[in-house]
Formats: sequence, C-alpha cells, structure tokens
Amino acid sequence: MAVKIYDTKARKKVALTFRDEGKVSVYVCGPTVYDVPHIGHGRTAVVFDTIRRYLIWSGLEVNFVSNVTDIEDKIIARAARDGLTESEVAQEFEEKYFAELDRLVVMRPDVTPHATGYIAAMVKLISDLVANGHAYTIDDQGVYFDVSSYSAYGELSHRDLATLLESAGARVDVDSAKRSPVDFVLWKLAKPGEPSWDSPWGAGRPGWHIECSAMALGLLGDGFDLHGAGDDLVFPHNENEIAQAGAAGHEFARHWIHSGMVQINAEKMSKSSGNFRSLADALDTYDPRAFRVAVLLTQYRSAMELGDSELTAAASAVDRFDSLARRAMAVEIDLSTASIDRKREQSFRAAMDDDFATPAALAIIFAAVSEANQAFDCEDIETAATLVATVKELAGVLGIVIGRIEDSSGDSRIDQLVVDRETARANRDFATADRIRDNLEAEGVVIADRASGTTWHRR
Ligand SMILES: [Zn+2]
Repeated sequence: MAVKIYDTKARKKVALTFRDEGKVSVYVCGPTVYDVPHIGHGRTAVVFDTIRRYLIWSGLEVNFVSNVTDIEDKIIARAARDGLTESEVAQEFEEKYFAELDRLVVMRPDVTPHATGYIAAMVKLISDLVANGHAYTIDDQGVYFDVSSYSAYGELSHRDLATLLESAGARVDVDSAKRSPVDFVLWKLAKPGEPSWDSPWGAGRPGWHIECSAMALGLLGDGFDLHGAGDDLVFPHNENEIAQAGAAGHEFARHWIHSGMVQINAEKMSKSSGNFRSLADALDTYDPRAFRVAVLLTQYRSAMELGDSELTAAASAVDRFDSLARRAMAVEIDLSTASIDRKREQSFRAAMDDDFATPAALAIIFAAVSEANQAFDCEDIETAATLVATVKELAGVLGIVIGRIEDSSGDSRIDQLVVDRETARANRDFATADRIRDNLEAEGVVIADRASGTTWHRR
C-alpha cells in the first residue's frame, strides 16, 4: 500500500499514512438538505466513493463517515416557504439525495451523522473555545470564533489574515458587533419561531462549521486520517473546521483532499446563472454508469464539464463494456473461474496509487476491452476470458458494474435476443442469426456490429 495523494494543506503529493495501521478513518462533508441534489453533488459523491472502494480493495479497513446538515438557514427558509417543518424539509431532501446516490451505486456511509443528533457535542466544543478565550459572545446574537486568536488560521487555504481582513473590510455588510469582520458564528441565537436547542448562551442552533468539527472528532477521534470535501468548501468551511478543532486543543485531520467543481460551458453551475442541472435529470437521461464513467474520465481535482457531450461519450464507453459482456455470455465464459491479468492489475494499481488517477486507470481498462474483442475475433477464448475477467474486476473497483446487460438498456427481452444472435453467430449458425436480426429490424430495433462488439438502439 503506497498511495500518494495531493494534500490540499501540504499543496503537494504526499504519502497517505494512517493513524492506526491497516485502518483508514475518513470524513467527507455531506449535503445541506434543502433542495434536490445537482450533478455537482453526484460528482463529489462518485469521487469519494471511488477512493473509498479503492482503499477497501487495497485491503484497508475503511471507516467512512459523511454527515447530513439537517439544520441551517436555507432549510429554515425552505420550510417557511413550503409551509413545512424544518425536519420535514430535511427528511424529504435527504431521501432524495440518497435515492440518486443509490442509482450511482455509491456505497452508503458507514456512519451518517445528522447535525441535530450532535448538538451536545457541539455545545461542548463551543464551551471549550469560550473557556480558553478563542470565542466570545455577542448579546442577542450568539457566540463567535475569534479568528485573530488562532495563529495558524489560513493554513489549509493558504490565505493570510491581513489579506482576509482587507477584503472583508471592503465589504459593505460588515457586522460591527463582531470583533473582526472575519470572525464567524459558532452558536446562533434563535429568532422567534425558529427551531432551537438549549445552551449556556441561550436557545439557538449551531453554526455550520462547528457541526463538522464536532461530528468528525466525535466519531473518528483526534488525528483521524482523511478529510474530504468539494473544493468550494476549502474556504471558509474547512479552514474554520481546522481552527475550531485546533483552538480547542484537538489534532484534526492528518490529510485533506478536495474534489473539483462541475462547470457548464466553462461557467460555475449555479441556480442564479440558470445552468443548474439536477442529478435526477441527468440520471433519467443517461445510464447512471455513464455518469460515473464521465466523472472518472477527469482527474478528481480538476474542474470539469459534465454536459450532454461528456455524458454521451461516456454512454458509448459503457456500451463497449456491455457489448463485451454479451460476447462473453454468448460463448458462455465462466468468469468465476477465469484468471485475472496480473500485469494489467498492477498498472491499474500504479495509476490509482498515484493520487487516484482514474483517467489512466480507465484507459487501462478500455485497452483490455479492445484486446478482449480482438481475442474473441481470433476465437482465442482463453485469452478473452482472462481479459473480460480483468475488465470486470477493475471496473468493479471503480464502481462500474458491467455484465448486467438487463440494466444497460432497460429491455432485457431485446438484450436476450441480441445475445441469442451472437450465440448463433459464434456457432456459425448464420441463418438463425439473420432471422433474429430481421425480426428485431421489423420492430424498429437496429443492431450495430462494431469492432468493439454489438450494440442496439431503436430507430
Ligand atoms: Zn463539513
């Protein structure tokens, strides 16, 4: 096990080392559940799911914690708008979030802490910060973190306090009650009608940043191994998480890893610019495996386009996997006994060990697909079987399920007929093969035999 990751804090690739040998503790910032998930959520989830699957496949015991923020200003606003309670809003959108992730075959976290379930731990952490002088109260508002009291502030996002103060000072909405405009809220006192919990400072709710510090430390302990998030959370959210934990005397995450944003036509996706695409819409339009492949074709840290052309290209890559699976079925290859190509497995491992280079890992798998098809063409079934088994194994590590042909098209009857035709062709029974093709043609199904295998579509 020699995984190197690009550590956001170190700003370079470093060897991933673990607090406890053979075990990895991971915390990934989860969603604030006030709306349906968008394709950016899908990318982040696929990236960290793939990293998790790879670490498990490498023999590590992974404890994967990812939270749900179920109390926050946006949830309160949505509840007021829809005439629902905050917990009804949170529950509805959490269910929608996980329903879409299930379609992407993203493994559920080992633990999914909800912010409202950890209020006592947050109050304790805030109390510690008040007691040691890193936090202060403002009447009628709540408790704030004193950023100037924490000298390492900015170590994750590589910003210095002077620059931060300068840009904060230029803003018009400077809150004069705070000691400094960069100070952030730890405990927000409730306005009438807002949901609240008791605290030494009055009824209120936690700030968003303290939620993740308290839940990560509470569930994984000091000096846990890996903290992940989308790179829009580096500052201020993750930076504040570090400051809160550090100022309270805790060692926080040993490594930081961030996934890039999704862009549409080189612009940040956002509701305000009208280029927002829900994850449900993308997964209704494309095979969820195509979404996954599209994500993994880009290095996880880079910003990426995830529009129709990327998803269409990925869908044809998925077709190549399914065609290969059908060819293997047609000659009744038993994948459970086929051996794996260890050399390819090694190259795959080398790619993934190098900061989870999924584009290189996928290229190795696609090359194996091509060679498996060549082996089938030459009727070298033994070589083909090894290659197909290798493709299946390595694609599986990336969370791409192949060989479930009934899922590839949503019409298992036609898939079966395509398999029957390939079986007939493999047996040189061309009369049967042609008859099946003609029958399918008659109902508007076009079969395409390509070098990479057979696909079908409706006319
Ligand atoms: Zn977080």
